[in-house]
Amino acid sequence: MGEAKRRRQMAGLASAMDLELGEKVLRQAYQNTCQAFDLYPNDMVDALIASYRGRNASLDLVAKNNPEDSVACRAGCSACCHQMVLCSPFEIFILAQLLLSTRSNVDLEGIEHRLSEISRLPLNPHARYGRHATCPLLVNDRCSVYDRRPAVCRALYSNSKASCEQALTSGGGDVGFLVHPQMLSSAMQVGIDSALRQKRGLNVEPVEMCGSLLIALQDFNSSLTDWLNGGDPFADFQVRRTGSPTNAQQVEHVAARLGL
Ligand code: SF4
Repeated sequence: MGEAKRRRQMAGLASAMDLELGEKVLRQAYQNTCQAFDLYPNDMVDALIASYRGRNASLDLVAKNNPEDSVACRAGCSACCHQMVLCSPFEIFILAQLLLSTRSNVDLEGIEHRLSEISRLPLNPHARYGRHATCPLLVNDRCSVYDRRPAVCRALYSNSKASCEQALTSGGGDVGFLVHPQMLSSAMQVGIDSALRQKRGLNVEPVEMCGSLLIALQDFNSSLTDWLNGGDPFADFQVRRTGSPTNAQQVEHVAARLGL
């Protein structure tokens, strides 16, 4: 067998295994979230905290098992914290709850001021990167909400510090990221979102973090109540290409295909 043919076969096998693993992870996240609904039948917030806690623990385990020599990320390196962050709506509430319960009024005012400045920038990842829009939750080059940081931050692993720094300096460019953590994170989110849509009819559109977090900090109870009633408190900060399907449509399509 020629070398090129052997490589193509290996690549095909690897992607078939990825698909199988992705589906398994998605189904597990769906089942875990449904179980959390059963465990906390009268408290959706506790159910979701349990579901997201399980997801975070799994993502952290994936991170721990990344081969060390393949990951360039180290504590104190924050080049990736200048990008636009997309979150699930519930991640916004988890972050807001943490900040409201642990930060002083003065600190909260400062955070809200920085969130407000960034949320005025265009909802465009490239435009933001070019302007070096540092995440307002980055303090002294460290994530100040590390344990509750969103999945996109948990699953992003660079294989080259130099390319991260180069991309930050020039406002864009190619950075090699590890594919598996992101693939598993997406599969888990689709599983959770499927349960939220199918079982509770909740809004699952991803939203830009800064603008949405500002809304949640300024009016936590009413934005949470709105979302729990199927509303869309962060509608102004959804990022979707015109004409492309919504996340809800994609999730419902996957759920129907997998018989969830
Ligand atoms: S939430 Fe934390 S990890 Fe994510 S971009 Fe902000 S500072 Fe960085």
